[in-house]
Amino acid sequence: MANERTFSIIKPDATKLGVVGKIIARFESEGLRICAVKKIHMSKRVAEGFYAVHAGRPFFDELTDFMSSGPCVVMVLEGDNAISENRRIMGATNPDDADEGTLRKLYGAHIGNNAVHGSDAPETAAVEIAYFFAGTELH
Ligand code: ATP
Ligand code: MG
Repeated sequence: MANERTFSIIKPDATKLGVVGKIIARFESEGLRICAVKKIHMSKRVAEGFYAVHAGRPFFDELTDFMSSGPCVVMVLEGDNAISENRRIMGATNPDDADEGTLRKLYGAHIGNNAVHGSDAPETAAVEIAYFFAGTELH
């Protein structure tokens, strides 16, 4: 098993629902360690930069409007296979398809408002962590 770091966002729908504490507790109870955490409110431009890989997709404008619509909690999680573990805990992108008990099933409303983000590979994790955190902020 590889010890990894991954990047996580508690999206504006989930902060509005008031489940930040529950989501963080879930990650910790599943064995992921919080290396860094902060609450931010992304501008539209910051959201566009974060999701640049999806620029040009039909849902890009809706996605970046949503991500800049309210505060988020951004985090760095660390643990064995942290990237795939985080995605397992989150569940499928569309809450309708997500397994029972996953964060997206519990707290997501639909594919556009799906409560959490998690990096999908080591390369994207590194880029996404560096987009929001300085190396000196990871402990
Ligand atoms: P995330 O990157 O947010 O962790 P993901 O990796 O499961 O989600 P991606 O394919 O990277 O899914 O899509 C990024 C986000 O764009 C999704 O979380 C979702 O909110 C939104 N999205 C993806 N596909 C659609 C779609 N067909 N319609 C509306 N929104 C979509
Ligand atoms: Mg993704």
